[in-house]
Amino acid sequence: MRSRYEHNKRRFDAIGPLEKIYLFWIVGASCDGCTIALTGATNPGVEDLMAGSIPGIPKVEVVHTVVSVESGAEWVHNLFMADRGELDAPFVIVWEGSIMDESLSGDGYWMGLGEDPDTGRQITSLEWLTRLAPKAAATFAIGTCATWGGIPAASGNVTNASGVMDYLGEEYRSAFGVPVINVPGCSPIGDNFVETAVAVLLFLQGLAPLPEFDELGRPAWLFSETVHRHCPRAGYYEEGVFAHEYGDKECLVELGCWGPVVQCNIAERGIVNGVGGCMQLGGICIGCTMPGFPDKFSPFYASSPGHLISTSLSRVTGTFVRTLRNLTIGDKNMSPRWEHLDTLPSGWRRQEATPFGLEKLGHKFYNAFQRSKQSYN
Ligand code: SF4
Ligand code: SF4
Repeated sequence: MRSRYEHNKRRFDAIGPLEKIYLFWIVGASCDGCTIALTGATNPGVEDLMAGSIPGIPKVEVVHTVVSVESGAEWVHNLFMADRGELDAPFVIVWEGSIMDESLSGDGYWMGLGEDPDTGRQITSLEWLTRLAPKAAATFAIGTCATWGGIPAASGNVTNASGVMDYLGEEYRSAFGVPVINVPGCSPIGDNFVETAVAVLLFLQGLAPLPEFDELGRPAWLFSETVHRHCPRAGYYEEGVFAHEYGDKECLVELGCWGPVVQCNIAERGIVNGVGGCMQLGGICIGCTMPGFPDKFSPFYASSPGHLISTSLSRVTGTFVRTLRNLTIGDKNMSPRWEHLDTLPSGWRRQEATPFGLEKLGHKFYNAFQRSKQSYN
């Protein structure tokens, strides 16, 4: 006999596009930072999803312990309905926090989420994931704890914590054929999550192809670049100029920044509404989006072993390039008229401002070369 869920799934397939979808937010070993991060999404915001105001996207019924009006047994009732296939729309799971190994919890449990109404038996969050993940339209892991294990999985932990992908395994596929979707970050950028969710919802609606994910299930368009490539301090790195202490404006690599080898888009996206971000606010990158975090980036605030080679090279080439650039900046700060009259008519000048000697010769040579190139082109 066909399960109610199977019946519903076929019905949804047949009637799409969907008008509504449920989102079950389930929490493991978490600090709730991902929930806070989600509220910072602006483009679109989570409230736009809940209001169903985005064209082509179904209204999202968020079942979350913070935003739901139900609590206790009434809240958990939603999960029972999903498990029995009694919902009037498909659902997705968003898991926040690491998965702690319940086989190590002795007589108790690490993560409890409701009780069986018939027997009073404690149900764990992990049991809900096991029961619901195969029936979900998609399973999202939000934040580095849920994606790779994160801080609760650091060396010395007693819970054998891991990520959702570790627990569900590589064979896992959602009811709509999607592997676990990973949006890492500690905490993640809210817009990264909502943008990914919207892209997947468009796919589930049949309005767009499945967006591109990398081999670790990260949205490829958000995590394929390193922080360093878009960092506002990258120009200093290129010119071989490095900060000596926090508060300096230059590249932070010698203070322990791992940006050159970390895949994260915070340098171009910011934290909220395009504003903020680690280097923008003077902080180093500690690799919080990466599967190796935190152990492979520890100790924090100590420079990485590999930086010596790259910063030494940058110092050599950067010093040379910076000197040439400074000469050119001097040239471009002189109008042709001032150059012709050999004067700088500014009351603000602090020293002899018109070039002379080798500098003047350099400017002449540079301009002659530039013009010959222009006429050639
Ligand atoms: S601060 Fe970090 S990410 Fe930015 S340029 Fe320096 S090493 Fe690269
Ligand atoms: S720049 Fe580094 S520390 Fe900052 S959010 Fe990205 S990965 Fe995390």
